[in-house]
Amino acid sequence: MALLLQATLMYSLAVVTPAAAASEINLPSLGDTSSSIMSREQEHQLGRAWVSMLRGAVATLDDPLLKDFVEDHVYKLAETSQLEDRRLTFVAIDSPQLNAFAAPGGVVGVNGGLFLHAHTEAEFASVMAHELAHLSQRHFARNLQQQQRMRIPLMTAMLASVVLAAAGGGDAGFAALASTQAAAIQEQRRFSRQNEQEADRIGITNLQQAGYDPEAMPDMFERLAQLSRFSRTPPEFLLTHPVHQSRIADSRNRAEQLSGNDRKDSVAYQMMRARVQLKYEQSPGLAAQRFKLLLDEHDGEHDAARYGLALALTRSGQYDDAAQALKPLLESRSNDIAVNLAQVELDASRDQTELALQRLDRLLAIAPDSYPVLQSKADTLLGARRYKDAEQVINRLANLRSDDPDVWFLAAEIRGLAGNILGVHMARAEYFMLAGDLDQASQQLDLALKRADDSFVMTSRINARKQELARQREIIDSF
Ligand SMILES: [Zn+2]
Repeated sequence: MALLLQATLMYSLAVVTPAAAASEINLPSLGDTSSSIMSREQEHQLGRAWVSMLRGAVATLDDPLLKDFVEDHVYKLAETSQLEDRRLTFVAIDSPQLNAFAAPGGVVGVNGGLFLHAHTEAEFASVMAHELAHLSQRHFARNLQQQQRMRIPLMTAMLASVVLAAAGGGDAGFAALASTQAAAIQEQRRFSRQNEQEADRIGITNLQQAGYDPEAMPDMFERLAQLSRFSRTPPEFLLTHPVHQSRIADSRNRAEQLSGNDRKDSVAYQMMRARVQLKYEQSPGLAAQRFKLLLDEHDGEHDAARYGLALALTRSGQYDDAAQALKPLLESRSNDIAVNLAQVELDASRDQTELALQRLDRLLAIAPDSYPVLQSKADTLLGARRYKDAEQVINRLANLRSDDPDVWFLAAEIRGLAGNILGVHMARAEYFMLAGDLDQASQQLDLALKRADDSFVMTSRINARKQELARQREIIDSF
């Protein structure tokens, strides 16, 4: 209900009074009087502030393997894209509804539901390549040039639409809200038909240059067209990306002209898909049955089904069966991080901490900066109540991923148990800043300042964060 209210408020701010909202707020720090196009730096900062507000309004996925996969995947796609500013910020939204989006300033978002609906890695990539093309062609800034000073209402409308998409049609109130308001919101954020065509065209080239079979794009469009045919409240992505027969035909023609690359899928993608399927299945037991069926259909030769089965069995407490399911994968994919972390999860569930830690250290020798491995090590040490050791690992991770609220959240918990109170306040301040709660962030910095005593280094660091906070508040207040 709180969400509903929030979305309604955002909606009214964005749609009912766009002109008033734009003129009432002072925008000199963001705007640029000589040109209505934002500078890249302004766009970057706006995007960061926007994503923190989004995180405050929706539930996000805190699965390190999934986040790592999305980041890695999109950065690789970006290499063959036309994107010049490749500072990207990611957000993975905890919703089984289909959605993906890009927002100004390099924000790339996916709902968990995209994994459910994109059946292959290439199909997933086709959606991300399309979104990257909106960013590389700076469609937002170009739209704004036409609409003059509409950027803040536009970003607010986008926020509302992403929040709505996260809730999907599961809630009747939301469904009604979505259907009556989506059209208006869509008016605000929809790119022109021309922009969409351009994103398709540039996206499919990027897809092919990244090594994928370009046919994946029309395939995905066909899947989307089916989805809109059979659902009464089509997903947000379809409202902003209507799929017509001509669009499918255009991309099919283009795909035929682009040849040479034919990568369609990977076990890595299918394993991530299995994680998402497991998450949105009613119970791990039910998921186990499904994965078992799939595995049997393939005479035991389906690595992702086997992986999903092992995870589902672990989470439903069937440890011996889980170990048995996982064993062939550990042999055939002995250095695979996801597979090894499934064994770590199993070992930790059985209180075999030493075994889990040995495996983690072996993985860290191969991939010392791996986010999923470091987080798993911090979790395992925390579970074993080795707080000081856990603190070392989480501090290293916080250094590597200083803009990840999930990492700061865990850092606060671990530092608290390790008795590092100043560290708790610092970690909470970072967490709240990244999650869009600036009042709480400010309180935490004040508490930290009291604890810093006479340490010049700490005091300067805290004051620097206070300045950063003030800067962020200025941007957020303008929304
Ligand atoms: Zn688009």
